[in-house]
Amino acid sequence: MSKKINLLGYSLESLERFFSEIDESLFRAKQLMNWVHQKGVLDFSLMTNFNKNLREKLKDIAIIEPPKIIEEHISDEGTIKYLVEIESGSMVEMVVIPEKNRRTLCVSSQAGCALQCTFCATGAQGFDQDLKSSEIIGQLWLANFNAKNSKPITNIVFMGMGEPLLNFDAVIESAKIMKDQLAYGLSRKRVTISTSGIVPNIDRLSKEIDVSLAISLHASENKLRDQIVPINKKYPIESLLKSCKEYLEDYQNKRSITIEYILIDEINDSLDHAQKLSKLLSNISCKINLIPFNSFKGSNYKRPSMKKINSFKRHLMNKGYIATLRITRGDAIDGACGQLVGNLSNTVKGKKLISHKSI
Ligand code: SAH
Ligand code: SF4
Repeated sequence: MSKKINLLGYSLESLERFFSEIDESLFRAKQLMNWVHQKGVLDFSLMTNFNKNLREKLKDIAIIEPPKIIEEHISDEGTIKYLVEIESGSMVEMVVIPEKNRRTLCVSSQAGCALQCTFCATGAQGFDQDLKSSEIIGQLWLANFNAKNSKPITNIVFMGMGEPLLNFDAVIESAKIMKDQLAYGLSRKRVTISTSGIVPNIDRLSKEIDVSLAISLHASENKLRDQIVPINKKYPIESLLKSCKEYLEDYQNKRSITIEYILIDEINDSLDHAQKLSKLLSNISCKINLIPFNSFKGSNYKRPSMKKINSFKRHLMNKGYIATLRITRGDAIDGACGQLVGNLSNTVKGKKLISHKSI
């Protein structure tokens, strides 16, 4: 692998620092952003507003290199799952969800995940490595410019493989590029970071970047949450909700957060659970996204009946919450939430498989 600097994952400030370090004008940073993230051009020699000297200089020290798409699967309903190879040879997945007025990209932030939530296929495979910012923004670059049927992405959710707030710096750097008007120009409403509740980094988030926040809560009591989202033992519900409140205060309570709640049959789906949830969230400005459990090989959990799902939802709505049901898409290609394991890599000979590590 080349030792040259990969500029793909550099935000505007980082590019400006880079150009200043090589004694070039700062406006080159804006020009480079435009070539790479708006025009999709990676080759310095095609950057016609760079003089020959600069082009040669850049070629000597830098590259602009996205990860590689290895396989692409389209489901009947149009959801596209991509298997993406990162620099080390590990595999991650990204999913494009086309809808009428938007095209959402679900990005991975880590290969595997150390947090071992019991309902999650990524968690079951263990942690392999953090993605670099070039490998995170590279997924967006690929979806916009390089994939078959590529079209501009309008929304990003950090809901692929990994826990974004445990790869904080790379996630923030890539989210800055997603939001930058000189790059993809996505507003904060269109970039959502989903976390299982890494409290100290929720506290840091609003100081670093303005994006939308989703909390994967999934249980209304510590006893149950300890079991299904083990990071709860480190950051229990009270501390998680306290940091959510402080996060909202940072924005003068002018916004809300999304609470994600997977519904698993006989585990967290009773009316009693719904009641406790509505009490728990009573002084947090939020909407609740209910996600019927998506099954995967090796899991014993089941999705509740539609009757149970609807009565859970109705209870929350009767209590005044905005509660939505996430219609599962990409199920047939295992491209739905929590099914992302990079397991197509089993078919790719000689590639590194994801290893297990504990937190
Ligand atoms: N680690 C982060 C983001 C990735 S998981 C987090 O946990 O929030 C993205 C979403 O998919 C989370 O809400 C997660 O709880 C959900 N998810 C995981 N496994 C799932 C499954 N089997 N069925 C439905 N949703 C699942
Ligand atoms: Fe990791 Fe999120 Fe899966 Fe939990 S749900 S194991 S935090 S990816």
